[in-house]
Amino acid sequence: MKDKKKDIRALTKEQLQQFFVSQGDKSFRGTQVYEWLWGKGAHSFEDMTNISKDTRQMLNENFVINHIRVDQMQRSSDGTIKNAVKLHDDLTVESVLIPTPSRTTACVSSQVGCSLDCKFCATAKLKRMRNLNPDEIYDQVVAIDNESRLYFDKPLSNIVFMGMGEPLMNYNNVLKAIEMITSPEGLGMSPKRITVSTSGVPKMIKRMADEEVKFKLAVSLHSAIDEVRTSIMPFNATFPLNDLREALEYWYAKTKSRITYEYVVWKDINDSRRDVEALVRFCKYVPCKVNLIEYNPIGDDHFKQAPESTTNLYVRELERNGITCTVRRSRGKDIDAACGQLANKSKEVAV
Ligand code: SAH
Repeated sequence: MKDKKKDIRALTKEQLQQFFVSQGDKSFRGTQVYEWLWGKGAHSFEDMTNISKDTRQMLNENFVINHIRVDQMQRSSDGTIKNAVKLHDDLTVESVLIPTPSRTTACVSSQVGCSLDCKFCATAKLKRMRNLNPDEIYDQVVAIDNESRLYFDKPLSNIVFMGMGEPLMNYNNVLKAIEMITSPEGLGMSPKRITVSTSGVPKMIKRMADEEVKFKLAVSLHSAIDEVRTSIMPFNATFPLNDLREALEYWYAKTKSRITYEYVVWKDINDSRRDVEALVRFCKYVPCKVNLIEYNPIGDDHFKQAPESTTNLYVRELERNGITCTVRRSRGKDIDAACGQLANKSKEVAV
């Protein structure tokens, strides 16, 4: 019986208003319920205290609220928090809160597992089980906002889609979630504080540009040489660098928003002068900055962080060419919460 009920948060505000009208009620009732579901984050119809008992019961008979549940929370010695999040169908995803003195950032998941097969990423080993719904993405952000207020005394300030999954392979739901996160009826956050990180799906990058989205774009580049990139990110064979470059040029022409390239330097993979030069060339196509991120080992001997001297070579060459570059230290490594480590391992840690 329960399975037949529809997830009420799959309805838009207009659909909810129409539903109430079809029940002989006022469309305004739909607005009230919508506010409870999103802005006030109601977990059950019982919470909706300004809605009559009969109406609440009627909603209960027709719908469910598929709210996520933070199943387990782990805290790293550096303050990073990882949530293992249980979904209504018992699948699990992870999200991370990363605190710094000036901001708190939520790193959220967009899929259960991942549809891509990046060789250096733990999530890739899980394969994609399903896309997350907009409300499941939204709930992760709300959970982290609450934790940020509770543990750090301030609201969440930034969101990055760098958890599990490829956001552009779940495009519609990610965009709907962002719409609610930024809407005054939801969390009212500025889109400028949201970054969608992608391995680079050219068609979807162009679509985002056409839709004139206001959030930021990060691309996990890791190599600007096709053979190298394909060997570590096999989907690059389908979406080669030239197509990516063209899509990024299109993005910038439409949005005027600078792109961030994420890049890990690995020993014997992308640590030669040729690799550095290729990156510098790629960076000249579109205004950008480079985040050199630390490799977080995932128990695979093939990938080893290159020595600091190689990272320094990258920094020197990028800066010499006028390209902004930052070197990012990992956060939350001790609880498998760092980039690329999300693989639902919390249970193993707990026992
Ligand atoms: N699919 C999206 C978002 C998830 S991955 C994307 O590819 O951007 C988030 C970031 O973590 C990406 O930049 C990814 O390349 C990086 N990453 C994956 N595995 C990693 C690892 N083991 N160490 C460091 N960064 C990793």
